[in-house]
Amino acid sequence: MLIRTWGFVATKPQRPWVAVEIRAERGALMRTSGLPAGAAQESMARLRAALAHVGLRHSTHALTLHVHPTCTKDDVPHLDLAFASALLKIGGRLQAQDLQHTAHARALTLSGDIQDPTLGPATVLSMCRASVPPEVQRIVHAPGGDALLPENHSLQQGWEISNLLALVNSKPSWRNLHAAPFPKLGRVSANHPKLHWEEIQGEGHAKSWLAIAAKHRLPVLMSGPPGRGKTSLAKTCSALRAQSLHTSDVPWVAPHPAGGVAGLVGAWRQGAPQPGAWAQADGGVLFLDEFSEWPRPARESLRHVMETDRLELHRAEGSAVWTSKPWIVAATNPCTCGRGHEQCLCSPAERKLHRKKCSAPLLERFSVQLEVGNDPSTCPKPWDEVLAWLTRPVPTEGVLWEDAAREGWLNSDIHRQASLRVRASTGRLAEAHADWREGGKVTSEDVRAAVDVTWMTREGW
Ligand SMILES: [Zn+2]
Repeated sequence: MLIRTWGFVATKPQRPWVAVEIRAERGALMRTSGLPAGAAQESMARLRAALAHVGLRHSTHALTLHVHPTCTKDDVPHLDLAFASALLKIGGRLQAQDLQHTAHARALTLSGDIQDPTLGPATVLSMCRASVPPEVQRIVHAPGGDALLPENHSLQQGWEISNLLALVNSKPSWRNLHAAPFPKLGRVSANHPKLHWEEIQGEGHAKSWLAIAAKHRLPVLMSGPPGRGKTSLAKTCSALRAQSLHTSDVPWVAPHPAGGVAGLVGAWRQGAPQPGAWAQADGGVLFLDEFSEWPRPARESLRHVMETDRLELHRAEGSAVWTSKPWIVAATNPCTCGRGHEQCLCSPAERKLHRKKCSAPLLERFSVQLEVGNDPSTCPKPWDEVLAWLTRPVPTEGVLWEDAAREGWLNSDIHRQASLRVRASTGRLAEAHADWREGGKVTSEDVRAAVDVTWMTREGW
């Protein structure tokens, strides 16, 4: 078995990106190439102790270690984490399929913590940004290194981890039922740019409801012509979500419809469970563009996980369970031609076919349904105020309704005709809208606003 990966060696400022190759075969010998044998032995000793300390077994194989460019004794500790990943992969404990595109910075302590042996925070990372090899797409580093990565670096992702166990657990929220559960020590940060919406013209209605949905954890479905702001608005959602969770960074995951069920929720592949976008977006934003283009099984599998926040896969090889709570934001064209409304060129049959792509039970799970693309109004709160509002506590119980609002709601078509789920959801929307207005009691205006964003459910999508 041959594993290729990368180390980031901070003691080599001229050539910090070091290609690491480990070949494992039966036996116990260790051969080295490109690094001193003594230093490699010391690294393996640290590794063995660190793995044992966090309860992971060291796999015994004959190993051939090759690194390029050549490393000195002082450089080798910086390769500890790269060696650890490779050995965990060889031992079947690390599911990451893309080690050959992953670089590892930092050394290990004997207790399995990730540390920097000689330098302070990873300022060198920004120093060396020009020389990032094209094969390297992500870097695993200790807490704090992330902030110092250059803004326009070519790395798609940084994985911030503090401990070997966090590395093993670096696919968020998945664990194998047959293995001991791993304590969750680290988190995956997707380094999504913190976009705000001040440059997006108009769309005050959508902006208001995105803020409300972020704070009140409500799934959103946006409908609108292509190129009219759905994706731009969705990209601001990670900032909204992070703010509402009082954190600085959350994953933003946007899978492609071609990925199907496996890409969306996960699948069993080559003997190992592979989490899908839904699991990887845990705690962050799952953006599903072209929602009606997803294969029906994928959309329906989403319905299940939206209900339970949980997915179980059972195969002959074993079972896996993922739990995940992403904020789901989906977008779709209004019809097959994409123009919608008066400009629509679709026949009634085509319109009906497009609408039938989303089943009623699935649509019902998207509490907030927005029309985007033709709204000149501005958001009643400026961006800074939106962020401040998101950090205020959600009023949980005892939300008061004005009598007229209560009566209007009880007599509305939705309350009389819609399913229990939609009724409950619309009631919560009215209360969330009252929270947004910061006016105290729920008024008739809030009820109207809530009914207004359940239009797809109402109009027989
Ligand atoms: Zn059309």
